[in-house]
Amino acid sequence: MGRRKKIVQECERLMDKPENIRNIAIAAHVDHGKTTLTDNLLAGAGMISEDTAGEQLAMDTEEDEQERGITIDAANVSMTHEYEDKNHLINLIDTPGHVDFGGDVTRAMRAVDGALVVVDAVEGAMPQTETVLRQALREGVKPTLFINKVDRLISELQEGPEEMQERLLSVIHDVNELIRGMTEEMDDIEDDWTVSVEGGTVGFGSALYKWGVSMPSMQRTGMDFGDIIDLERADKRQELHERTPLSDVVLDMVCEHFPNPVDAQPRRVPRIWRGDADSDIAESMQLVDEDGDVVLMVTDIGVDPHAGEIAAGRVFSGTLEKGQELYVSGTVGTNRVQSVGIYMGGEREEVEHVPAGNIAAVTGLKDAIAGSTVSSVEMTPFESIEHISEPVITKS
Ligand code: GDP
Repeated sequence: MGRRKKIVQECERLMDKPENIRNIAIAAHVDHGKTTLTDNLLAGAGMISEDTAGEQLAMDTEEDEQERGITIDAANVSMTHEYEDKNHLINLIDTPGHVDFGGDVTRAMRAVDGALVVVDAVEGAMPQTETVLRQALREGVKPTLFINKVDRLISELQEGPEEMQERLLSVIHDVNELIRGMTEEMDDIEDDWTVSVEGGTVGFGSALYKWGVSMPSMQRTGMDFGDIIDLERADKRQELHERTPLSDVVLDMVCEHFPNPVDAQPRRVPRIWRGDADSDIAESMQLVDEDGDVVLMVTDIGVDPHAGEIAAGRVFSGTLEKGQELYVSGTVGTNRVQSVGIYMGGEREEVEHVPAGNIAAVTGLKDAIAGSTVSSVEMTPFESIEHISEPVITKS
């Protein structure tokens, strides 16, 4: 059996175990390295070749995306990662980095429970860092931080350990100021959602050279900042990558610190859905019940040259299957599901069914638009998604 087929089978097996699922987005100010990081994660999970990650930019450029039949806005991929002896299914939604795509970023946030915020170590938190954080927090999505391009601090700016530490701490401080300000008024978030090195919710590294570190990874590998500076300065980046691979550091952080759907949905559903809290459908969504009524929140409509329109979104309740007749909010009558699938490296793979807690790709929902609530019984639709945008920033 081919490697890809094996990955699809493993994803299908894990789809039924919501505790092992993480639905995440990577969000960043433009050019901070989101695409390069995403490629690293895909390569680390065996989805694309290690050698070409960073050059291949699997999720990049309009032309490439059109050629392969995926949309220029949020693309979705699923991958697996073993953490603490358990395999996890990670459904990753790529969010557009450009300010003009603000609406798509917000829609992507509706489908996920965790947002990995990427910040360039040299530039620090930028206006769109603030915007994506706000979008995540408004949707009840938990943030973690990855500080990228740390290689530049060492090799280009020739910073020593103290200077580097000071700079990284100042980035963390700025991001935490934003998080604190935004979560103050949110009474459904009881935990402290600020990020910290000690807490393991901050990673550092270089997406370009494929190495990364976090407090837990440093404890595991025994490498400290001094070792990293020495190897980076000596141009031993391959050794750095092999000793402390970026994808392991980030994917471990995702599994450990982002909530699974069973933990996230009871908190998130009241924030994004204002229907009857005592109804069966409310209970089913809170329990991530795969036997409940089907509820899908559509976050993106893509076009596949062969299959036509594909609705992608988060299944909050029930199990999606071919042949189901589903209601689409704001329209009359039902649409028949023609196929269900998941995304792998931007390509759709048809599967038998997609249960609650997952990201699904569905054909046949001809009336659905991004933002539609699609369900097996008529129901109150999800809250409309508030678009947050900011003035266009011209980089100097
Ligand atoms: P995006 O706009 O956030 O998706 O950013 P990209 O992933 O496209 O990266 C923007 C530019 O930064 C590209 O030229 C990358 O090669 C470069 N880049 C990304 N990550 C790193 C890194 O860790 N170190 C360095 N030096 N450059 C990086």
